[in-house]
Amino acid sequence: MAFRPALAGALALAFSLTSPLCAADGPATTRPGSGKVDAAPAANPFFAPSPLPYQFPQFDKIKDADYVPAFEKGMAENRAEIDAIANSDEPATFENTIVAMERSGLLLERVSRVFFALAGTNTNEAMQKVQAEMAPKLSAHNDLILLNGKLFARIQSIYDKRDALDLDAESRRLVERYYTDFVRAGAKLGDADKTRLKAINAEMATLSTRFSQNLLKETNADAVVVDSRDQLDGLSEDAIGAASAAAKSRNLDGKFVIPLKNTSGQPALASLKNRELRQRIMNASLNRASKGGEFDNRAVVAAMVKLRAERAAMLGYANHAAYVLADETAGSVEAVNKLLAQLAPPAVANARAEAADIQKIIDAEGGKFQVSAADWAFYTEKVRKQKFDLDEEQLRPYFEMDNVLRNGVFYAANKLYGITFKERKDLPVYLPDIRVFEVFNEDGSHLALFLVDYYARSNKRGGAWANAYVPQSTLLGTSPVIANHLNIPKPADGEPTLMTYEEVTTAFHEFGHALHGMFSHVKYPRFAGTSVPRDFVEYPSQVNEMWAAWPEVLKNYAKHYKTGEPLPQALLDKVKASEKFNQGFATTEYLGAALLDQAWHQITAAQAPSADGVLAFEAAALKRAGVDFAPVPPRYRTTYFSHIMGGYSAGYYAYIWSEVLDADSVEWFKAHGGLTRANGDHFRDTLLSRGGSDDALALFRNFSGGEPDVKPLLERRGLTESVK
Ligand SMILES: [Zn+2]
Repeated sequence: MAFRPALAGALALAFSLTSPLCAADGPATTRPGSGKVDAAPAANPFFAPSPLPYQFPQFDKIKDADYVPAFEKGMAENRAEIDAIANSDEPATFENTIVAMERSGLLLERVSRVFFALAGTNTNEAMQKVQAEMAPKLSAHNDLILLNGKLFARIQSIYDKRDALDLDAESRRLVERYYTDFVRAGAKLGDADKTRLKAINAEMATLSTRFSQNLLKETNADAVVVDSRDQLDGLSEDAIGAASAAAKSRNLDGKFVIPLKNTSGQPALASLKNRELRQRIMNASLNRASKGGEFDNRAVVAAMVKLRAERAAMLGYANHAAYVLADETAGSVEAVNKLLAQLAPPAVANARAEAADIQKIIDAEGGKFQVSAADWAFYTEKVRKQKFDLDEEQLRPYFEMDNVLRNGVFYAANKLYGITFKERKDLPVYLPDIRVFEVFNEDGSHLALFLVDYYARSNKRGGAWANAYVPQSTLLGTSPVIANHLNIPKPADGEPTLMTYEEVTTAFHEFGHALHGMFSHVKYPRFAGTSVPRDFVEYPSQVNEMWAAWPEVLKNYAKHYKTGEPLPQALLDKVKASEKFNQGFATTEYLGAALLDQAWHQITAAQAPSADGVLAFEAAALKRAGVDFAPVPPRYRTTYFSHIMGGYSAGYYAYIWSEVLDADSVEWFKAHGGLTRANGDHFRDTLLSRGGSDDALALFRNFSGGEPDVKPLLERRGLTESVK
């Protein structure tokens, strides 16, 4: 059942993810239904486990009106289960307390998994209402469990004698995990503090929901409307077609609409020649949810960081970041600050050097302006062409979506792990675009179901992410149902979907999360798949990105959509040669966001600004960290930084933290022969199948045979020369 504050639904799934910085659905605590449920009206598809293969959700039967009754009944059943465990006359045992909890709350998990997945990918007004209504109720429900004194006394008694219980390693770890979860949630607080904590949690759940709903609405409202085609000079025909289609879908026939993606940077900026339009797009992006009006998030942020700081203090931590990081592989604020501070100066120095290259071109063209954030992408493409004779647009015809999926993503997984894929058209989906594949092991045994939801929509949050509809557990007898989400603009009818190189890499990245979920082979649902520390969860997915550009894989999928011609070697060489290009920008914009996240969460409640002070706080934090370089704004500004108002608070550093392990592992694969079954099996056995059932860094050592080394990361990002 959902018993962690980071849990299921409301909070964990509120965060938004983007390429190549995305995330899985974080520590999964929800789980699939497989237990007995009371006889109930058959009309509600959540009341009983889905009868479909793998307990695949009955998307064709689920109606918006089903959610609230399922949440209510799920919480009631779960309360009864927890009361029975907490109030039992039997002495507490591992089985009757902790395993019993692992088996509880199945209905609530079923509805939470589906609801919060669809609330992210295919929402509507009715669902947004349900989300706003349920967020504080679910938070209160979790507190009812986590702050239940009798229940904690039983868990503590088991924890205290764990050495004498003759438990296997995974079970022993589960005892420790439960104890830690409860203590971190406030189980040791006095009654008055517990009451205050419950109020804080409920308010934070409401704020988190409001933040994500404001952002979705504001992002849609701020899509840039263009009156005439001549203003779009520079955009590809495909992109113009997509802008025209987007206008039609908004009843703006004859006009063009450029929707905003979730990051500060926007794809159209790379090719639009019209500077005024570029500035309009950039401003719309950067000012999202902070310029007043109905969907302004400044007050939400101010309230949230203050409450987080207050809660951290109650729980005995100096600040929210200290509270969060104590449970991550990083371990402390100092460790994270040290890594970020080490990377910032060389990253900004590289970005300034890149800006100088850009400025030369602007000057040479007679532009009488200094490079700004709105110009960076446009001129950096010119520099790229000049230095590498490479135009990103040249690549897209070689990256047709179905080809990338089947002959790239799936092909690499087959070569490494022997798994095969068969499309299932018999299972219901929530939109016609969604595809479902059954995944088989090399010996033909069933492994998992995999959902592919790659297209952008106005009712889908930005970025890319993975989630589990059904997590694996041998205790519950469940096999995984995992989904991948991207935001690829849908082409006009009849046109092929041609991906950018970045989108291709993102597809491999998200599939790395999917593999982590599908290969999971653990007993307890608490440890399934991606239920690992947040600063570890991005590691397997980042490793999987390496196969996108692996010659044998690339040769297999990068074929011209019309002619079938392979991507020319010369073009490929240019791609490889340009890999470190613009890394000063990429690293600086990432670090800007990561440092902002830490700044917001390394304060006391008294230091939290009011709504009016949010932007000033942001500016001061960037300046203090040495990343206040206007042409390179943070990848997310505070008011549209979904990661940190949802499940990734104080955790955005995790991408680069994971990248240390990733870059190191890429070296391991290269040193051991690359794309081989032996290497795949080794990665699967030692790491991908283990979920959170063992210490994360121990898993890494089991795989790589050594300690993490930061050098490959610095080399990859071109930061070696200025970093000691
Ligand atoms: Zn990710």
